Amino acid sequence: MVHFVGAGPGAVDLITVRGMRLLQEADVIIYAGSLVNPELLQYAKKDCQIFNSATMTLEEVIHKIEEAEKEGKTTVRLHTGDPAIYGAIQEQIDELKKREISFDVCPGVSSLFGAASSLQMEYTLPGVSQTVIISRGEGRTPVPEKEKLSLLASHQATMVLFLSCAFPEKIKEELLQGGYQEDTPLAVVYRATWQDEKIVRTTIGAFPEDLREHNISKTALIIVGEVLEGDYERSKLYDPIFTTEFRKGTGE
Ligand code: SAH
Repeated sequence: MVHFVGAGPGAVDLITVRGMRLLQEADVIIYAGSLVNPELLQYAKKDCQIFNSATMTLEEVIHKIEEAEKEGKTTVRLHTGDPAIYGAIQEQIDELKKREISFDVCPGVSSLFGAASSLQMEYTLPGVSQTVIISRGEGRTPVPEKEKLSLLASHQATMVLFLSCAFPEKIKEELLQGGYQEDTPLAVVYRATWQDEKIVRTTIGAFPEDLREHNISKTALIIVGEVLEGDYERSKLYDPIFTTEFRKGTGE
């Protein structure tokens, strides 16, 4: 049996209760060493075999899983954040299916949400934006033509960009092409929820320079949009006038 587990964004206690239990029971752990907090490995059994996938290919990962399966062992494949976001789990799932190896997926707290908690903000403010666009700039991995940042930016919704801090000038250019203004608020959260987390609150126009100044080129999210300003309408849900399924409003 293989369990894909989301390790959370960084802080050790942001793994789920289920994820922690699976980690404690695993015979084999294959963890994404570039981003998963190694302190999580302290919870493994004494005789657990631990491998860092940062130096492995897909074939090597699958081979380790196959070896474990032959011995009737349980494997945890530990991914950073939530495995469904840029986690490369689909290709592993497909290999396991081909081999008829059973697996399940345990979700995790994505850095998408780790960053929002660090910024103490809401991505979906009434009257500002009711949509979050999760995407990335085009680096070595191509992005489909219809998903170019300039096209996505034209919605002026809240945007959260993964894997994009290494080429900020290009990101800035595409966001501006899409119709955002130079002074649109932008925040960068480096290593959200880790001890050495850094938050940079700036604008689209100024952020490439700010990133250079703070020496940030990886493990960071770029959050863009007017939601960072916090000028919004109150929610209907908690408005005294508004009637909901659970509460009668004054209706005035
Ligand atoms: N599955 C992960 C994302 C993996 S892709 C998740 O759900 O968070 C790796 C990218 O995620 C990094 O380049 C960075 O953009 C982002 N990332 C991962 N952990 C982060 C953290 N703690 N703080 C900020 N960004 C992070």
